[in-house]
Amino acid sequence: MFLHEKTYNLDELTAYNTHTHTNFSHCAKREMVAADMIKEAEKSGIKVLALTDHNYPDEKNQVAVQRLALLKQIENIETDVKVLIGAELSSYDIGKFADDEECDNSLDWRLYTTNHFHQGYWVHPEDKSPRGYCRHMLAIMDKVIDSGRADAFAHPFMAKYISCFDDFRVVTAAFTDNEIGDIMEKANQKEITWEINVPAVFGDPVFHKRYFGIGRETGAVFNIGTDAHKLCDIDVKQFIPELKRILY
Ligand SMILES: [Zn+2]
Ligand SMILES: [Zn+2]
Repeated sequence: MFLHEKTYNLDELTAYNTHTHTNFSHCAKREMVAADMIKEAEKSGIKVLALTDHNYPDEKNQVAVQRLALLKQIENIETDVKVLIGAELSSYDIGKFADDEECDNSLDWRLYTTNHFHQGYWVHPEDKSPRGYCRHMLAIMDKVIDSGRADAFAHPFMAKYISCFDDFRVVTAAFTDNEIGDIMEKANQKEITWEINVPAVFGDPVFHKRYFGIGRETGAVFNIGTDAHKLCDIDVKQFIPELKRILY
């Protein structure tokens, strides 16, 4: 699902934060309560805020249950912020999904992760070279696109969670421009948005400049997700100067 027309003007994207965690995510601060997150979004000029909690393999489809709890929490809040209650969902191997399709479809924003390799249940490629990981991630993304279950990719291509290299950036450097362009074009046809994930960009600036450039060439639709785990990270604008320095 596209939330807006494509734009490569990062200032326009500050009205959207499409990746934030409430305290339903174990890694988020306790202060991440929906009502306070919405207040923070209002202060920051955000018009669309997506709540995207992690799913957990031993709590299958729980994100759909949490959605109802979050809806209840915010039902009496008057705000102009459009709140999307989604989740950061997992495709942990090629064609493998952590939750049922019905669960995914109940969500307002299905942000798909294809690279949480630090999780014990995540399947690694047999070929553990940088190219092996590239092919594996592309194959996962390809199946996610085919499945029709995703509105966006969370920190796509990111290799930070692959721990077998001295520098994880050897993996992102090993994707070819054509591979990145082809998968972006394919996703575009299914209205899948590409995330500019703030911590991922800051952790691998060289790759993300290339990613943003290829996205512009192929007509990709981008959103910024700050991946906020604390209230002070909800505001998108604060990151724009550094994002501009890296991406343009
Ligand atoms: Zn993630
Ligand atoms: Zn996240």
